[in-house]
Amino acid sequence: MKNFKNYNDYSKKEELAFESKTVHGALGHDPMTGAVSFPIFQSSTFRHIALGQDTGYSYSRVKNPTREELERTMAILEEGIAGFAVSSGMAAVTSVLSLLNPGDHIILSDDLYGGTLHINEIFFSRYGIEFSQVDMSDLKQLNETIRPNTKMIFVETPTNPMMKVADIKEISKIAKSINAVMVVDNTFLTPYYQKPLTLGADIVIHSGTKYLGGHNDTLAGIIVVKKQEHADFILGQVKTFGNQIAPLDAWLILRGLKTLTVRMKQHNENSIKVANWLRKQPKVKEVYFVGFEDHPQYSITKEQTTGFGGMISFAVDSEETAKKILEKVDLIMFAESLGGTETLITYPLTQTHNSVPEEIREKLGITGKLLRLSVGIEEADDIIKDLENALK
Ligand SMILES: *Cc1c(COP(=O)(O)O)cnc(C)c1O
Repeated sequence: MKNFKNYNDYSKKEELAFESKTVHGALGHDPMTGAVSFPIFQSSTFRHIALGQDTGYSYSRVKNPTREELERTMAILEEGIAGFAVSSGMAAVTSVLSLLNPGDHIILSDDLYGGTLHINEIFFSRYGIEFSQVDMSDLKQLNETIRPNTKMIFVETPTNPMMKVADIKEISKIAKSINAVMVVDNTFLTPYYQKPLTLGADIVIHSGTKYLGGHNDTLAGIIVVKKQEHADFILGQVKTFGNQIAPLDAWLILRGLKTLTVRMKQHNENSIKVANWLRKQPKVKEVYFVGFEDHPQYSITKEQTTGFGGMISFAVDSEETAKKILEKVDLIMFAESLGGTETLITYPLTQTHNSVPEEIREKLGITGKLLRLSVGIEEADDIIKDLENALK
């Protein structure tokens, strides 16, 4: 490990545990200077030695060492063959959807990140791409939705905000049988708790804005693939579309990754405490949390993940109560997004899911009584005290 001479000479550090891989990255330190913190290469272009002789870098839209370190690190953590770091989670979604051709059909989770639905509905449909949504926890429904032109199955698990769980292994078998690409949005659990590529998925994406960055301070998107054809396509796509992440933001995600496992453990521990407390409150009518033993897909969770993450949704007795909670929380901040060190609360109806048609929202349970918590890494009792006060 001590003899790195250049930026291409990185080992996969296969012998290390996941926790150590997050800390030490692909190269980890700078091989030229020994800098322990991987440098931010804030340069758009790179000097050539002579015609046909260069350092391997030419122009930062094509390749930048800081971005490359993040891409290699994410490929290692998700166990893929190549990673790509782009400017936001939505940029990652866009890159992956661009694998589709006019006339293709994509099947999406019914309970899906609002932007992922929106981009299909408003933009990709204009290019002749058809889409359907199904409850991915119901494989019969999925099988019935398949068309001869189905080319992609796009799964979020757990779902946002209803916390439904899809069986990645089973869905990947279905995708394989029809020669469709299976994509998993792994934002909620991160590779620390769930590794979709090892379960059969072809591509994994992230909003790196959330747990990977972890500090509510930057936007990022990640794509990791395990097939060469996808690596070649996405490389060309990112290089040409120009949606890659900037060096400073890549560095912020690398820094976030160093503490990913300790943060995830704390999110997990806190969310178990908060979810169990919420369940006992008279004004709380339903708590959606994948860590409950009576969650409908608990056995799948136990099979395919090693933790529950930090996301909880809950329904209260009235819209009035929901509005009062949003007003009265103090430590907990009423703000969009998730996965950061601070506990955030959102109102899915108007914030993340306002573009979802009303009848679908009603069917899913996204009503005016529903709230979503991203449980942070504060002391769990402080989070509970704040909720207790807001519920009074
Ligand atoms: C936030 C989020 C996205 C979009 O990511 P941005 O970084 O906001 O563009 C996609 N999927 C999920 C599950 C998300 O939570």
